[in-house]
Amino acid sequence: MPADPVSSAASGFAALFVTLLLLSLVVKTSLMRRQIRHVLARREQVPQAFAESITLASHQRAADYTAARMRLAMSEIAVSALFVLLLTLGGGLQAIHDAWSAAFAPGGIAHGVALLATLGVLGWFIDLPFVLIKTFVIEKRFGFNRMTPRLFAADTAREAALAAAIGLPLLAVLLWLTAAMGSLWWLWVWAFWLSFNLLVMLIWPTFIAPLFNRFTPLADEALKARVEGLLARCGFQSKGLFVMDGSRRSAHGNAYFTGFGGSKRIVFFDTLLDKLNADEVEAVLAHELGHFRHRHILKRLAVLAPASLALLALLGWLIEQPWFFSGLGSAATDTATALALFFLVLPAFTFPLAPVLSYWSRVHEFEADAYAAQQTRAADLVAALVKLYRDNASTLTPDPLYSRFFDSHPPAALRVARLQSLQP
Ligand SMILES: [Zn+2]
Repeated sequence: MPADPVSSAASGFAALFVTLLLLSLVVKTSLMRRQIRHVLARREQVPQAFAESITLASHQRAADYTAARMRLAMSEIAVSALFVLLLTLGGGLQAIHDAWSAAFAPGGIAHGVALLATLGVLGWFIDLPFVLIKTFVIEKRFGFNRMTPRLFAADTAREAALAAAIGLPLLAVLLWLTAAMGSLWWLWVWAFWLSFNLLVMLIWPTFIAPLFNRFTPLADEALKARVEGLLARCGFQSKGLFVMDGSRRSAHGNAYFTGFGGSKRIVFFDTLLDKLNADEVEAVLAHELGHFRHRHILKRLAVLAPASLALLALLGWLIEQPWFFSGLGSAATDTATALALFFLVLPAFTFPLAPVLSYWSRVHEFEADAYAAQQTRAADLVAALVKLYRDNASTLTPDPLYSRFFDSHPPAALRVARLQSLQP
């Protein structure tokens, strides 16, 4: 009997997907194992470069914290791979599809929104134990967690309300565009998605972030004068300097920019200001300004926008291919199913890009450091980084291969050595 071309394409595609999914699982898991081994093997001695500034106890705490987080991440990626397999080849998505068909017309917008929202809720439940363990076991054991169960529940309720208020209409518009815009729908979806993202960036600082945190104008006049001096020197205009009550949830500290154009703000975590002196705060901010000066966000957007257009065009083609659906365990061939399948299997296909993106990000970090060394003193940034490594229990001895694959920031020793070489 001659093989049916659709079903052989389908089984070929299924085999490719499963192979890549397992391959990514094996690669990630072995890199994580390497990281644990490498870090624990160096637990007993502080690296030479940090011998003066980091105690053995802090170094060991960082090693244990890294290992604990890695072990949790390993089980998380295994569970999420299993979840993806159950939904696709296991027929889970088709079962959800059938269940909603009792309430809404299959293939319609309401049905599609219900299907995708169900996936979102399921994904959230799968993730929940890991979030709970991370927050209330690991972060707590290492003294970082400030989150109470009550605040966690309140955050969750607010996030769910926000996801429903924004996500459900958004899904409805996306599905409507795919149905109403003919064969070039993916171009419309892309334009809509891009504008939506820009809108979120614009309204985030003023409307969304304040739902979760309190932002108060920076009150320390001496520090304010220093920061404004730096901003003037760097030719940077901002809509204000704010302190965020990050300490409500965690002891980890940070500083960031938010918004763009006229709504740009600089935000310091209160936990950062508690740890660093004025010189160090200025150096950290200069690093952030370095990202801005080198247009890193724009460069990222310039690559990600065409890449997402290419992916949507690919989806536009896949949606016409019966083997795409049947290969992934679905009898339904509507747009919402295609979207769900596409985003479930995409990570297995794109994981080889992870080291490329990590590399690119590390290049940006070096550029921002070099900028900070020009505008302030490299020694101040080094001092700030050492305090942050110590207080955040970041490992000083990552496995080189793991770091090359996953790390968005250069390893501590390399970063500090590079900064010290910039010191006049
Ligand atoms: Zn940076």
